Amino acid sequence: MSSVNTAIQLITREQAEKGASAAGSTCSSALAKGPWDYDLAEALAGVPAYGPGASSADVAPPSTPRQGQLPEEYKLASDAELDARIRAAKATLGDRAVILGHFYQRDEVVQYADFVGDSFQLANAALTRPDAEAIVFCGVHFMAETADTLSKPEQAVILPNLAAGCSMADMADEESVEECWEQLEEIFGTEPDADGRVPVIPVTYMNSSAALKAFCGKHGGIVCTSSNAKTVLEWAFERGQRVLFFPDQHLGRNTAKALGVPLEQMPMWNPRKELGGNDEEALLDSRVILWHGFCSVHKRFNVAQIEKARADFPGVNVIVHPECPMEVVDAADSAGSTDFIQKAIAAAEEPTVFAIGTEINMVNRLAAQYPQHTIFCLDPVICPCSTMYRIHPGYLAWVLEELVAGRVVNRITVDDAVQQNARIALERMLAAKPQ
Ligand code: SF4
Repeated sequence: MSSVNTAIQLITREQAEKGASAAGSTCSSALAKGPWDYDLAEALAGVPAYGPGASSADVAPPSTPRQGQLPEEYKLASDAELDARIRAAKATLGDRAVILGHFYQRDEVVQYADFVGDSFQLANAALTRPDAEAIVFCGVHFMAETADTLSKPEQAVILPNLAAGCSMADMADEESVEECWEQLEEIFGTEPDADGRVPVIPVTYMNSSAALKAFCGKHGGIVCTSSNAKTVLEWAFERGQRVLFFPDQHLGRNTAKALGVPLEQMPMWNPRKELGGNDEEALLDSRVILWHGFCSVHKRFNVAQIEKARADFPGVNVIVHPECPMEVVDAADSAGSTDFIQKAIAAAEEPTVFAIGTEINMVNRLAAQYPQHTIFCLDPVICPCSTMYRIHPGYLAWVLEELVAGRVVNRITVDDAVQQNARIALERMLAAKPQ
């Protein structure tokens, strides 16, 4: 099976030659270009953007990091040349560097990874290599921050393209969350109830900045992943009357709903509106206050796609990620993290048809890994995560060759005080046990 990038190149070429009659489709023909083209376009426009792919319509905040230009030799190098250079640099560095590849990363980069997994699995994998001088994170910005928070101070965490942020993580910034917190404190006060439960516990998804993890650490809150969100919410309800959940409304809603929280008690907080767009009464009655954030990759999935999969393949097993909207999760056979999806496919003994609602690079890889099954993405349009896609083998070759030359480029560092508080929230998550 060809990689997502190869499929995009073919579709774009066919579309240019045959127009509307081309087989297959992608959400942007610009995906066929090198990401340095978008880096340059942003530099010329003076404003950051997420680039083509699922997040292209999201507005990147001015503070979003931008990547300077990649040296010309890496842009001009052929695939074969980049492959040889990456392999040579990796061999020279040996144990001095560890390369991490996220499930959603393109195959052309993942092939060089020492570990492949979700963000938290990768941060933990890096801990098994305490002697590595450099951790090259082929994922996105918040993942590199978590790796820096958990790794040793002398280890350098490197993000090959600084423009590889995350549109969802950017939807909740520290200032807006602080403002929200102040307004909530005015309404609820800070005193615990008769059972010792404080008015609000902040819960942040792993897909958030280190500053927000630190905010949770400082305010009695906790971090969750898509694997342990239920356990974390139970932990929070033991200690608080309600939860402020950010940045992903869908993971918050899907998890709280599964725990029996009624939708009427889950108001949405829009940071651009006074009281988040709610009246005081709704907030007083709330159990979970959902931040107005979402993942643009998972927002693409809808119920019509599931209905089509069921019509085309009777008996199909539909599994979606809990970052998908509630209606999609409700219509699927099951929902769970990337780890859950992978394990469900691995556990199927008979040849099965799986329709999967998560990022296309991971779905494609699963399809290649399990040829005995029919595995396809629910979304027929090839539309990868914009920010993961910013990492191209050219950037990986560059950061590795710089390391060989004794230079660290694109280092991601988290302030010591932020690290300390973020670690508190992460440690609470690790200590939370399912009931
Ligand atoms: S898939 Fe969604 S949440 Fe994950 S990095 Fe991309 S935009 Fe962010």
